[in-house]
Amino acid sequence: MKDKIWLSPPHMSGEEITYINEAYNTNWIAPLGPNVDGFENDIIKYTNAKFASALSSGTSAIHLALIMLGVKPSDEVICSSFTFSASVNPICYLGATPILVDSENDTWNICPKLLEQAINQRIEKGKLPKAIIIVHLYGMPAKMDEILSLSDKYNIPVIEDSAESLGSIYKGKHTGTIGEIGVYSFNGNKIITTSGGGMLVSNKESYCKYSTHLATQAREPFPYYEHKEIGYNYRMSNILAGIGRGQMKVIDERIRARRANFRFYQQNLKGSNLLFLEEPDGFFSNRWLSCIVTKSFEQREDIRLALEKENIESRPFWKPMHLQPIFACHPSYLNGVSENLFEKGLCLPSGSNLSDKDKNRIVNIILNTINK
Ligand SMILES: *Cc1c(COP(=O)(O)O)cnc(C)c1O
Repeated sequence: MKDKIWLSPPHMSGEEITYINEAYNTNWIAPLGPNVDGFENDIIKYTNAKFASALSSGTSAIHLALIMLGVKPSDEVICSSFTFSASVNPICYLGATPILVDSENDTWNICPKLLEQAINQRIEKGKLPKAIIIVHLYGMPAKMDEILSLSDKYNIPVIEDSAESLGSIYKGKHTGTIGEIGVYSFNGNKIITTSGGGMLVSNKESYCKYSTHLATQAREPFPYYEHKEIGYNYRMSNILAGIGRGQMKVIDERIRARRANFRFYQQNLKGSNLLFLEEPDGFFSNRWLSCIVTKSFEQREDIRLALEKENIESRPFWKPMHLQPIFACHPSYLNGVSENLFEKGLCLPSGSNLSDKDKNRIVNIILNTINK
């Protein structure tokens, strides 16, 4: 059997171990310490976010963002339907109701037209949504100008789920730094990883201070433990933050490699009638995953199974949340875009450590399958 090719494996720089050793040798084996501060500063410098709070996961960052925006039981929160479940789960942790909104075809992210319809109908039904969670899926920025103008018009804050889009840029600004609060993930499959981890960023200091407070059990500054509100154990470990610092040394190289994967697939699969998502003017995607849209469900499955037979991992696009058994009961505003993408879309191996030889193997299998 040929060596397994993974969809999006970790890719260490070699520098991580220095920071891990430092943590070990100085006994900072805790969810605080110099690496945590250092990693926050690395992210601030890189993204131009003003403030940051390092957390245990992207999911916990979304959870804290919703708490800080005042989401309470029976409130409504709008969320992009075409995403990973971790965008929506925290809404439910709080007993609030997700309102799911479909995508547009230019970026595959939340459709601004449908978003406005959803807001208006929710208001008619008696509730102004408390927040809008938008997602920059697979690294492609969402249409932020249109989204922010609705956010201003109706006075609803935007949380940017940038778990997949660290390093992606929208009209000169890093995704994650454009809305009220941004969220990054450093899970094992993301563009850089701390094995597991997340970051909440904002241009308002109050959110990041409050996030770190809530993430450390909401302890008040007393000699004994004093608590005025419910806290969480969501802070990032100093060991894992050390991995993050080592990864930040090579973030630009990682983005270059992911973008080169995309270009390779696009060029070498030209003429195959597979659809690749182009970047609109002013949009820069980190191309976290290289995605193709095939002509039919059957063709998608043929390609996926042919790759699987050769020990190559690929994956259908995210199954939209309004189609998920657990979320199907919630209100949704649909136009067919995400369902069509789910039916025909496939994520190809996209690791920044993918070799040209592997990419050629993958392309040949795809071409053979299509031309069979
Ligand atoms: C990975 C991911 C998350 C969750 O991040 P974790 O760090 O795994 O909790 C949230 N949203 C999207 C879109 C993701 O891809």
